[in-house]
Amino acid sequence: MEYILTTNDICKSYGKNQVLKDVSLHIPKGAIYGLIGKNGAGKTTIMRVISGLQRPSSGTYTVCGVNNTAPEIITVRRRIGAIIESVALYKDLSAYDNLKIQCINLGLTSYDKIEELLKLVGLDKTGRKPAGKFSLGMRQRLGIAVALCGSPDILILDEPINGLDPEGIIEIREMLLDINRNKGTTILISSHLLDELSRVADCYGFIDEGKIIREVSKEDLEKSLRKSTSIKVSDIDKTVSFLDGKGLEYEVAANEGISIFADDIKPSDLVVELSGIGVDVLNISQNEETLESYFMNLISDTKGDGNA
Ligand code: ATP
Repeated sequence: MEYILTTNDICKSYGKNQVLKDVSLHIPKGAIYGLIGKNGAGKTTIMRVISGLQRPSSGTYTVCGVNNTAPEIITVRRRIGAIIESVALYKDLSAYDNLKIQCINLGLTSYDKIEELLKLVGLDKTGRKPAGKFSLGMRQRLGIAVALCGSPDILILDEPINGLDPEGIIEIREMLLDINRNKGTTILISSHLLDELSRVADCYGFIDEGKIIREVSKEDLEKSLRKSTSIKVSDIDKTVSFLDGKGLEYEVAANEGISIFADDIKPSDLVVELSGIGVDVLNISQNEETLESYFMNLISDTKGDGNA
């Protein structure tokens, strides 16, 4: 696997408060990497460090094969476009002029790309309207266009969908997929809106209290999301002995429903087998664990192991 960005045991402290603890991230080239963590977990801080806005207290990171201790890191950082915390825009200027100023800041002599970028983020029809009069979603999209001005290889977005309405969230999601697929830009995106992130990300890093508790690809995550079959039956005792006999993992809920945790249960077979031992199945449904509950279980498992 080729990684475009890695961090190696990054620590960051503010006084006595250690907010990053040996953070090692591995971001594959061309991926959309979702950084998942609760408020205060350290998502913004690691993004600030990677973008060069803050120095790590210890540890190193590598961008496009260049270590942060090498002098070339200054040039290589230009291959990163980032929006961290809030979008900085000139409120009195149009979308076009905001992008023009960014081109000037980056030392670009041609403004040819501006129209294309405005189209990409769906702001090509905003004319002279000042950015201060844009909706939050439009401002976010303009911010992303500003971050894309230097044609970065890596786009870093800190909670880009925070506060957006459902329509705004869909617009940003489609735009990010478009940028990733059509421009090949690697995207590092943080969010605490897990289900939304799961619609775009190819791989994930779960962060809690400054520690990466797991990195996982979308495929491996899908395999490990626990599938369960919930049943209501006429005889719980008989059902429990039947499940014990089969060595299946299960849980009896307070409402006397039983959840069986296994990937390969066929509801029709289960109904027939239980009926064979005189148990009627009154209700049956199959569920898959959500990313949200996976994350919560991961946090409690980590704390349970005494690693927190
Ligand atoms: P959020 O989603 O709330 O922004 P986050 O996961 O991005 O959360 P960070 O903003 O990285 O978390 O903050 C991690 C911890 O570091 C928090 O406890 C925060 O209070 C602390 N912190 C962040 N910046 C500073 C700073 N400049 N000085 C002192 N403490 C800070």
